[in-house]
Order: sequence, then C-alpha cells, then structure tokens
Amino acid sequence: MNEHVDTVRIMNLDFINTTQNGFLEDVLDPHLQHGRKCFVVTGNPEIAMRAREDKEYRKAVGAANYVIPDGAGILIAAKYKKQPLKERVAGYDVMRDLLDYANEHRMSCYFLGATEEVNKKAVAEVERQYPHVKIAGRHHGFFALDDHSIVEEVRASGADIVFVALGLPRQEIWIAQHFDVFDKGIFMGVGGSIDVIAGEVKRAPDFWIKLNLEWLYRLLKQPFRFKRILKVAEFMLRIFFKKS
Ligand code: UDP
Repeated sequence: MNEHVDTVRIMNLDFINTTQNGFLEDVLDPHLQHGRKCFVVTGNPEIAMRAREDKEYRKAVGAANYVIPDGAGILIAAKYKKQPLKERVAGYDVMRDLLDYANEHRMSCYFLGATEEVNKKAVAEVERQYPHVKIAGRHHGFFALDDHSIVEEVRASGADIVFVALGLPRQEIWIAQHFDVFDKGIFMGVGGSIDVIAGEVKRAPDFWIKLNLEWLYRLLKQPFRFKRILKVAEFMLRIFFKKS
C-alpha cells in the first residue's frame, strides 16, 4: 500500500478513503502521467473474506498499491467502526473513468479475461465508444496462471492500463505473481466488468445503485450467486461482533 494515501483498515485490508473523482485525479493520474506502474484491487466483502481464509490470496491482495472500497458492505463496516469512508468507489466506474482518460490522452489498454467471444465483443465496444483508445492487445481469460507467453505478451504490449477480468481469486493472483515483470501500467482486477462492457451482463439501474442495493439486484438476476451472499453475511457478522 502506498504510504501517502488516507486509508481505513477493515478486516486487515487498507481501503483507500477517497472519492471516485479523487481516485482518478489524485491517485491514478500521477501514475499514468509518469508511467509508474500500480496494482489496484477492487475490494468488497467477498474479497476480504477470501483474503482472510486463503493465504495465497491474502498475499496477492496484500501486494496491491490501492484497495478501493467497492461494495456497500465495506462502507457499512467503515461507518460501524466510526471511520466512515467518503464514498463507494466501484471498480466498474473506475474502469469507465480510465477508458475516458485513455481516450482523452490517447493511451493504450490491454483487455485480459472473460471468454474469447465476450472479450472480442467488449474490445469492439471499446473501439466504438472510445475511438482514441489504443488497443494494446486482448486475450481471453481461460489460461494457466503460469503461462508465460501471456505475461510476455502483456509486457511487450507496453499498455498504459491493463484490465484483468479473471474472476476471484485468479485475477489478483495473476497480477501479484507477475507484477515485477512489467515495466509500466495500471493493473486492475475488474471481475465481471468486461462482460458488462460487452453488453452480456447488465449493471443494476441507478436507482438500485443509489440505494446501495446493487448486490440485491445481482442476486435476483443471478440467483446461483447466493453462496457469495452468505460470505457477505458472514463478513457483516464478523464486523458487528468484532471477529475479523
Ligand atoms: N473468468 C476468466 N477466467 C477464469 C474465470 C473467470 O476469464 O478462469 C472471467 C469470467 O468469464 C468473467 C470474469 O472473469 O468475465 C468474472 O467472472 P466471475 O463473475 O465468475 O468472477 P467473480 O465475480 O468471482 O470475480
């Protein structure tokens, strides 16, 4: 974790205490301007629980420069600890901000993850919506984590921003394992965001997001995710009963 940023510690993760705009302008912009690489984790209760239970994942997340508070549960936990966070900084919104930024500054992005079909579709959407973004490269997300040809392809692409959508825990483990190899780039685990950009998955309407109920919307749309909600419930109970 970088030292100069204000953070709130929740379940052993240091969540950055900033706004969505502040994160782009004060934190990511200097990295992009100076070509300094960094590793961003989109933190939510599931990630905190996984890090608590899985040593390899804990190590990977621990190597991040910034953990952003995505997920209503993190904000509730911070409030409960009387160290409220300024606002939710959702991974998907940061990805959109970064695409806008790359479009404005004619920077390059690499898209790693999702199925071949979804990845292709998402990149086509990016080309349509952000005509000045340079596509440094793309690859689907179903490969072995130690496949060096992919690492080398990403490194050689010289991408300014690398979006990694390999799901939890693969995306953070992949970034942490290979981070030393890269000379530059913002590396960010973006989960299902490539699917959303491709138009395969719909994000919750604003109304649900504003009420902090995006998780409920997702659950209703994808009921097979109910096990994840149990993890979120366990996270909340641990926070309330101080068993983190
Ligand atoms: N994914 C991938 N490789 C994998 C597992 C998942 O590329 O080995 C992709 C998946 O296709 C989706 C994204 O990662 O685009 C997020 O997947 P999921 O929603 O299962 O992840 P989570 O919500 O657990 O982060």
